[in-house]
Amino acid sequence: MSTPIPATDVLIIGGGPAGSAIGAYLSKAGISNTIFESVNHPRAHVGESMVTASTRVFEEIGFLPTMEREGFVHKFGATWHAPAGRGTFSIRFGEFPQDDIDQDHTYHVDRAKLDMLLLKHAESLGSKVCQGVGVDEVLMDGDRACGLRVNVAGQSIDVHARFVVDASGRRTLLGNQLGLKKKDPLFDQYAVHAWYEDVARGEGDSKDHIHIYFLEVERGWAWQIPITDEITSMGVVAEKSVYREAKGDMAAMFERLVKSNDNLADAMAPARRVNDFKTEGDYSYSMTNFAGNGFVLVGDAARFVDPIFSSGVSVALYSAKFASESIVEALKTGDVSEAALQPYERRLRAGVEIWYEFIRLYYKLLPLFTYFIQSKKHRLQVLRLLQGEVFDRTEVPVLDAMREFIAQAEKSDKHAFRRQVTDLPVDDPA
Ligand SMILES: Cc1cc2nc3c(=O)[nH]c(=O)nc-3n(C[C@H](O)[C@H](O)[C@H](O)COP(=O)(O)OP(=O)(O)OC[C@H]3O[C@@H](n4cnc5c(N)ncnc54)[C@H](O)[C@@H]3O)c2cc1C
Repeated sequence: MSTPIPATDVLIIGGGPAGSAIGAYLSKAGISNTIFESVNHPRAHVGESMVTASTRVFEEIGFLPTMEREGFVHKFGATWHAPAGRGTFSIRFGEFPQDDIDQDHTYHVDRAKLDMLLLKHAESLGSKVCQGVGVDEVLMDGDRACGLRVNVAGQSIDVHARFVVDASGRRTLLGNQLGLKKKDPLFDQYAVHAWYEDVARGEGDSKDHIHIYFLEVERGWAWQIPITDEITSMGVVAEKSVYREAKGDMAAMFERLVKSNDNLADAMAPARRVNDFKTEGDYSYSMTNFAGNGFVLVGDAARFVDPIFSSGVSVALYSAKFASESIVEALKTGDVSEAALQPYERRLRAGVEIWYEFIRLYYKLLPLFTYFIQSKKHRLQVLRLLQGEVFDRTEVPVLDAMREFIAQAEKSDKHAFRRQVTDLPVDDPA
């Protein structure tokens, strides 16, 4: 039968931030592409707080004016709350200017709105967009990706192209199909979240920060993210084993964990939940390869690291940027082999490894992490990481300092901080 789907050079699975951004970059480079999104936007999604490095990508694809016009909440920094007592520690992005970025804020977003606007933006630049069309399988010619089997209104249709991009998020379509997915050896966390009205967001400058509350359960923390003037996203994260104790009563567990931090309990005291609780689990993993013959994996489809530092959308956007550069080159030379795509693989892997190491050390330190925010010596280095400046870096001295701090504390049972450093292994990177 004739296919209603346009013939293009590149087929993209998924219309989240990674899929839309790569569609935008490819369209700008004059490479025809089609994005298949299984649902119809707008659709809800977790991941509502950005880092400032994302601004660079929004600017490059011409999306920054839309971010400003649409009135997303400006995010100027982050605030941490001690587990007990009332200590708070804040940092502002504007303390350290970033290359090629002229603003000192990033955004908190309603992902339903952001993702819909980004997809429309890719379309306006020339990407073909098929919403409500799920991809069932990537078609392979030997070990080379050559097309997709898509489902259009219950009918299976094969579409062929020169290149395939998997941007299917945590569905990890191609990673599952090729058996590339490896569960993270360290992290096994679970999150419960919902939107609330009337959260007491704090005073002054920190009102529109992301607020992170330390919780006294294993690797537990909570987020507070302003979505609009009235609505705040609240989420509680803990090891999966903590949630198993809840025996399915997520609301009770959420309430219990909220009460375990004084400042969080105060913030939530006047709050009223306005939508259902949602849960997220099994979200830390990596694919063994981010590229193969005729394909790349971008965003969460390639790798997902723990969301403590709001890195996910930024990684999705940068992976799209780097992958598009490799695809443009590969299609120009006609060499779409795995070897030709290695510059993408290396660049993304190196950047995400820095996020991963930062996060791993953070979970060793937990409240002790605030020492590095307060320290004159380390504060700006920590800030650069929190801004999302992890790509194309050869060294990150503050990570060495964090490792050294932990090693000193672990050397002796008498060390003042020995009991506060957690048992997460640090010397055996995944
Ligand atoms: C608890 C938690 C908190 C988080 N907090 C943050 C945060 O504060 N800030 C942040 O930046 N990130 C956060 N993240 C991470 C963030 O959600 C992701 O990193 C980000 O959404 C990745 O974008 P993506 O485009 O790769 O995937 P997605 O946004 O998931 O998009 C993938 C798209 O592909 C579509 N799709 C899937 N399968 C198919 C198929 N077979 N056919 C067609 N379409 C398909 C889906 O419908 C979806 O629209 C958080 C994640 C979790 C789990």
